[in-house]
Amino acid sequence: MAVAKRRKPANWNNLTLKEKYQQHWESKSFQPSDQSITRFGKGFVFVNTVSLAVEGFALLLPHYFSAAASVKGSDGNSANTWLIVSKLATVYLCLGTAFQWWYLHDGSADKVSKSTSEGISQDEGLPQGWLFCSTCKLYSPPRSHHCTVCNICVLKRDHHCFFSGSCVGYHNQRHFIIFLFYACVASAYGFFMQGAYLKREEGVSYFIALLAMWRTMTRQSRCLHLVLLLHFYLCGIIAVACVSFVSWQFRIIFRGQTSYEAVKGFTKYCKIRGDADGVEKGNKKPKIWYYGNFVSACGSPLEFLFCIVVPFVKTKLPGDGIKWTT
Ligand SMILES: [Zn+2]
Ligand SMILES: [Zn+2]
Repeated sequence: MAVAKRRKPANWNNLTLKEKYQQHWESKSFQPSDQSITRFGKGFVFVNTVSLAVEGFALLLPHYFSAAASVKGSDGNSANTWLIVSKLATVYLCLGTAFQWWYLHDGSADKVSKSTSEGISQDEGLPQGWLFCSTCKLYSPPRSHHCTVCNICVLKRDHHCFFSGSCVGYHNQRHFIIFLFYACVASAYGFFMQGAYLKREEGVSYFIALLAMWRTMTRQSRCLHLVLLLHFYLCGIIAVACVSFVSWQFRIIFRGQTSYEAVKGFTKYCKIRGDADGVEKGNKKPKIWYYGNFVSACGSPLEFLFCIVVPFVKTKLPGDGIKWTT
């Protein structure tokens, strides 16, 4: 597609320099594209995970243990054992985050394919809930939505995750939750390790950012400690953000909704406590079947828990993300 060349206004030569600058400034678009936000988000996760691992491995843990051993006067052997255990824990947390991030990123399973679209029988018109996507030029199952960033229709689309560059949909929502859980634990771990290190090295007053900057500028403290302080705050913010994301995800999962449906107030696909299919018969007040909704999104609770403890495996889901009963 040819890009239209921006023309200078007719009176350009008569403008003052200030007016020229003003027009130049106003013609700029400072709104970043979704693709560049995605690139930034992916880089952010990668850099943060690697920096947490390197900091923990090379700097914080050895320092923490040597200091603890000297204060308590404990023998070197037990301190060394705990040092190795803590280093392994750091690696485990970082690998857990990375694996879940990868499973989450591999969202291709959620793509509404041509065969899915052609597989529906239209003898009596389009089945309930199916819609035609004019961009993909195919029929999309209920709860699917088109993502303008991925440029595909995604099964049971929840939202587009800018930190993995992938849509969160039917097949990767549980990995999104476990990814958030691991990112939260890793950030909280980093937060406390960095906090303990900085408190020991610089004292409590160093946590006031302006004071820390002043001390660095006047060369009273090391530049590296300022970097650690920034990372300390960042880890705290990430941990809190992950907790709120996970809470929101669990809220909508137990209520049988996607983020889109929750915002719009749809409860069409929410499972209701009742017979085997979760359909209520005769009762006046329908009760939400929280367990059924959870299993539909995350698989069996035991498998889900196992996946949290061992974040290198994938769990199975009972449905296919295409058929939904209302
Ligand atoms: Zn589409
Ligand atoms: Zn997307």
